[in-house]
Amino acid sequence: MNLNPNLHINHTHDAATHSWLTSANAAGCDFPIQNLPFTVFRRQGTSETFRGGVAIGDQVICLGAVAKSGALTGLAAQAASACAQPVLNDFFAMGPAAWSALRHALFDALKDGANGVPTDAVRAALVPIASIEHAVPARIGDYTDFYTSIHHGRNVGMIARPDDPLTPNFQWIPIAYHGRVSSIGVGSDQQGQKFRRPRGQSMAPGAKAPVYGPCARLDYELELAIWIGQGNAQGEPIPLAQADDHIFGYSLLNDWSARDIQFWEMAPLGPFLGKNFCTTLSPWIVTQEAMAPYRLPFERAANEPQPLPYLDDARNKAQGTLSIELDVLIESQHMREQGLSASPVSHTNFRHQYWTVGQMVTQHTNGGCNLNPGDLFGSGTISGPTPAEGGAIIELTKGGKAPISLSTSGEERAFLHDGDAVILRGWCEKTGFARIGFGESRGEVVETGKSL
Ligand code: MN
Repeated sequence: MNLNPNLHINHTHDAATHSWLTSANAAGCDFPIQNLPFTVFRRQGTSETFRGGVAIGDQVICLGAVAKSGALTGLAAQAASACAQPVLNDFFAMGPAAWSALRHALFDALKDGANGVPTDAVRAALVPIASIEHAVPARIGDYTDFYTSIHHGRNVGMIARPDDPLTPNFQWIPIAYHGRVSSIGVGSDQQGQKFRRPRGQSMAPGAKAPVYGPCARLDYELELAIWIGQGNAQGEPIPLAQADDHIFGYSLLNDWSARDIQFWEMAPLGPFLGKNFCTTLSPWIVTQEAMAPYRLPFERAANEPQPLPYLDDARNKAQGTLSIELDVLIESQHMREQGLSASPVSHTNFRHQYWTVGQMVTQHTNGGCNLNPGDLFGSGTISGPTPAEGGAIIELTKGGKAPISLSTSGEERAFLHDGDAVILRGWCEKTGFARIGFGESRGEVVETGKSL
């Protein structure tokens, strides 16, 4: 049995516990006391230093202020102090015992009827979420984007390589490429990340030479962001049995993709300018411990290749998969001007991924590659088994040939238009447990060359 406290259900998952902060107890609230996700924030429109915080209801707790108050003791106090910085790397590096100690101390201080805990210090450290802005929560050293949905692989493969839609390696290794960190940003429901439509080269089918201009096939990708906590020494792979000990938590990630640029440039070395212009994270990190109730068995059908031994073990089989409900919405400029709500375009669940997050960690380090605290993985596009569960517009529109209708405005989309915002939402729910949410990732494409 893995003794990591972040992987087991305990009293911090008890659905019957309420907070003295009433906004945390409202039905449908993303941030009940059972969640406690982390961020880095400051008050909007100020030049305050960014610092770590934890969401509860409609408030964020400034962890540095709590640490300074002396209300916490021991490892929890040390952990809160580490979160007083503008990035959470030092906190991530402290490991699962410290992450869990801080969660449990905050849970005890926030619960209704908290006794023996000086809750005044926590009350004094609350800042309304409506008044804050976020920053990327860690100094990301390296970013790796995986490709772990077999449904996405087949859907896009049919468009890009109809003769060979799923490459033979897909069912044997979690495939990935090393991505770009500099253009990763945060987009919240209050402040979306804006970026200009990229220009580039593309080659039309049957054409003799490429053309240069604004991307004509701009897309999004619904992904899970995976935040690495503790790293590993170079040359010392992380075995699957320990892989989850290295994961601090999860956010939502939109891997914006210029399909026309991508498909021309990616043979034989993989995505480059088609992906490196912008990547949008949601601002909150849902911790590994908060996710404990929503784990599921990892299942591989008997007629599929079974994972090689280094990618297989009893715990991964028993609870390697995460159940996360996911929504994608598009909000056009027209919708904003007319006061219409964003249009839902797909819904799926992370449990359909072909590989688990633990298998991604083990594969990444298997050759000796070292991970560092604050490294970021993208899960790869998350698409479910039915056509309506495509995690990118290229799948929903069959490569742009069958445009979708946006239900709230009646507009049609084959690919994204200038002014379109893409919103990702995620949440977990299970009978007997609280519903916990990820909040939103929001990003918006602006016309090529226009100011942001
Ligand atoms: Mn991707």
